[in-house]
Amino acid sequence: MNLIVMKFGGTSVGSIDKIKNVADIVIKEAKLNKLIVVLSAMSGVTNEMQKYIDDVSSDEKIENDLILTSGESVTVGLLSAILKKRDIKSIPLLGWQIPIVTDNNYQKAKILNIDKERINEFLKNFDVIVLAGFQGINQEGHITSLGRGGSDTTAVAIASAVDAKRCDIYTDVDGVYTTDPNIVPEAKQIPKLAFEEMLEMSSTGAKVLHTRSVELAMKNNLVLQVISSISKKPGTLILDDKKLIEKEIVSGVSYSKNESKITISGIPDRPGISALLFGLLADQNINVDMIVQNISQDGITANITFTVPNDEVNLANNVLKTNINKLDFSSIKTDKKVSKISVIGMGMMSQSGVAKKMFKTLADNSINILAISTSEIKISVLIDEKYTNIAVKSLHEAYNLKVK
Ligand code: ADP
Ligand code: ASP
Ligand code: MG
Repeated sequence: MNLIVMKFGGTSVGSIDKIKNVADIVIKEAKLNKLIVVLSAMSGVTNEMQKYIDDVSSDEKIENDLILTSGESVTVGLLSAILKKRDIKSIPLLGWQIPIVTDNNYQKAKILNIDKERINEFLKNFDVIVLAGFQGINQEGHITSLGRGGSDTTAVAIASAVDAKRCDIYTDVDGVYTTDPNIVPEAKQIPKLAFEEMLEMSSTGAKVLHTRSVELAMKNNLVLQVISSISKKPGTLILDDKKLIEKEIVSGVSYSKNESKITISGIPDRPGISALLFGLLADQNINVDMIVQNISQDGITANITFTVPNDEVNLANNVLKTNINKLDFSSIKTDKKVSKISVIGMGMMSQSGVAKKMFKTLADNSINILAISTSEIKISVLIDEKYTNIAVKSLHEAYNLKVK
């Protein structure tokens, strides 16, 4: 028998009926293989937990992660109970029981270690492990969370640790699409994608897979399958690019509204200033993404614009204001109403004109570009948030990605 990891997201376990449907899928697979089934909380539950935290304005990191990860305990208990009723030898486990050991970065903890021996012990006695996604435990013994959408990462980390034969990510869409099918109905399902492309798509906003899960799969060369828990259609395989014969120039368009823009004006234009500025933010674990610097009109000072995730903008603002004496800038402005739009494709490496088409398409729709960043296989632009949908739709059309 092989060992398979199956992960079911919030929408796949959003009600008792849906959990029973998951049980059907699991039981079918359990006839052939040993299974580790990783679950999210019921859809919406983690948001509800976040609201409770906000309601009491809790800044307590230990308590917040404990609350945030509680929804997963419910779904794990429910599925395992249903499986047992149907004569499957199942055991429900939370992250700390493996344990999945993480660092101390509450709300975005990184997995440091997974006890493989202990998993093997459980597998000797049980046919199915039902494991809570999203949860870890740090070395001080407190529960941590892996970041929103993090149960994909639990699944991939476990699959890598135990050398699973397959890692299937079940969700509410039948694979990865050329863009979010919920905003562009003409989006096309992509049968195969390279790790690198998926990594760029996730990190630029395609939430169908948690970015770190793709990073981990790529590092361990673990093939992922994104598949529907509802339809029986074949899913998307995410694998090593060498196995892809035909490389698309642009394979997808993604967007993220989870961006805030910070502009610092009148900062001294001298060596070391960026190191100091971004060093202060890095010390607080703030993720800086796009950066634009230009000289002020006076020719002596500079203006620096950069983006951070929405939930880190207040912290970033405070850190910079607290250090105004060191940084010596004249003003700081933040803007949450921006959005990052990206086009991604392995074929871009050998093709010119991709950026030109992107800028022209946005210009034709009177959309102003606030910042640009590129990698070998990605171009991202920052725009006013209100143009997100029109930008995604028109770029999807411009690169001919629609279902023919
Ligand atoms: P789960 O609860 O299963 O983890 P998520 O909501 O995290 O599901 O991810 C699935 C959702 O990702 C889809 O419903 C879809 O709206 C969104 N999505 C965004 N970009 C894409 C894309 N390029 N392809 C497929 N889905 C996408
Ligand atoms: N329940 C968590 C969330 O909503 C983790 C996940 O769904 O992957 O972010
Ligand atoms: Mg998800």
